[in-house]
Amino acid sequence: MLFRQLFDPETSTYTYLLADRATREAVLIDSVREQFERDSTLMRELDLKLLYTLETHVHADHVTGSGKLRAELGSAVVVSAAGGVSNADIELVDGDTLSFGSHTLEARATPGHTSGCMTFVLHEEGMAFTGDTLLIRGCGRTDFQEGSARTLYASVQNRILSLAPDTLLYPGHDYKGRTVTSVAEEQLFNARLGSGKSEEDFVTIMDGLKLAYPKKIDEAVPANLESGLLTPAAAEPASSVAGMMEDLGRQDAELLLGAGI
Ligand code: FE
Repeated sequence: MLFRQLFDPETSTYTYLLADRATREAVLIDSVREQFERDSTLMRELDLKLLYTLETHVHADHVTGSGKLRAELGSAVVVSAAGGVSNADIELVDGDTLSFGSHTLEARATPGHTSGCMTFVLHEEGMAFTGDTLLIRGCGRTDFQEGSARTLYASVQNRILSLAPDTLLYPGHDYKGRTVTSVAEEQLFNARLGSGKSEEDFVTIMDGLKLAYPKKIDEAVPANLESGLLTPAAAEPASSVAGMMEDLGRQDAELLLGAGI
């Protein structure tokens, strides 16, 4: 399999390119609209045919590139049926699969950060793409977009940390330069969800967080519910680093850096 981990520095978002080396069929997980040129150029250079754009969830911190990629490259927009996106081509439910060449992704419903969050698992390769449900040593926040700490705890324990211990986990964001983790690592070192933390422990931790309202949410969520297709409010490029503090990792990073956000 051909695999690339791409990074949008403005929002610390990872986009993942997966492709079959024989058939050249490709998928993109969590594209970013402002990175259209990067991604379309890479498709052309690597001689890939983009079949699907997948979303791990309806993002609050960046606008998806899925609608533009569909218009330009002919890819199908794939989302969770629980996400409320109005113009998708394929709506996934728990257990659905998508194939590209000889590879198959399993969609697992992992709600909690948002109600429509999904984790995509490549069983043969031992890889999973967790979106913001599980971040490296952290997790997505649960205080907006129908977030629920109890639901997220169950999703992580039952659908992600239940995978084989050496499964590589690729998050939706990282704010500290880390790129990948594993089930075994997070079981040991995730201070909120691993190391024997109970559901009650987790709920207490999440209830105690004082997180700023993410400024981009009012722009990004409506745009993403239309696959990132332009609206006047959504047309402005992402600019405010402080406004995109969607996830706990960002909060941790800012505190660490003393930025006071
Ligand atoms: Fe998110």
